[in-house]
Amino acid sequence: MKIIAGNWKMNGTREKLKDMITALQNVDTENKMILCVPYTMLSIESGKASLGAQDVSTHDHGAYTGEVSAQMIAEAGAKYVIVGHSERRQYHNETNDIVRQKAEAALSAGLTPIVCVGETMDEKQAGKTMEIIESGVRESIPNDIDKAVIVAYEPRWAIGAGLTPTTEEIAEAHKLIADTLTSMGLAGTPVLYGASVKGSNASEIMSIPNVDGVLVGGASLKPDDFIPIITSVK
Ligand code: PEP
Repeated sequence: MKIIAGNWKMNGTREKLKDMITALQNVDTENKMILCVPYTMLSIESGKASLGAQDVSTHDHGAYTGEVSAQMIAEAGAKYVIVGHSERRQYHNETNDIVRQKAEAALSAGLTPIVCVGETMDEKQAGKTMEIIESGVRESIPNDIDKAVIVAYEPRWAIGAGLTPTTEEIAEAHKLIADTLTSMGLAGTPVLYGASVKGSNASEIMSIPNVDGVLVGGASLKPDDFIPIITSVK
């Protein structure tokens, strides 16, 4: 069983999500299907899929205009929330420390955080990929948790760019993440790969050791693109 999660970013409509959910009803798979969609769509009946949000406030209530708490997200019907996505880190200056607080907020409301880590192109070129990944995992995941989290390795330079790391690079990153999680007492935590996943590369990526599924951006928006990724693996 793999986890296939879509990140719709700021795209779609409630009608398009309903169409996707209807299409997923006919997919014969044991894989776990998650759609992380804008807040306004979280109350839609999600059928065989589960819904997630794409960000959460570090606060549980109060004078934080425009923010949405984990409890509110859970009340709307979501089971998951992405924290620390590359675009949040880039456009909203989210640090590992903030991401960890968001993950803590999610866990306290019963949501499973999907914690994203990954290196920028500058960090990659400076030879810092492994260091950034390891500190991302250690600093973005709350300590001493006994609840489920999911980690997503997303090389930031590859997101939305049609680029993917080599198989060896993905394998090395996922081994480091799995080993780091084990040393944190979180062995068995699923680790997804994300960045430019599509129907044509999904099964090869998911056959790499320690890759427990994928987080898909652009190719999760249309059933014709998303379903082949879901059915590419058992
Ligand atoms: C993402 O935004 O999480 C992502 C993986 O995007 P894409 O698949 O479009 O590269």
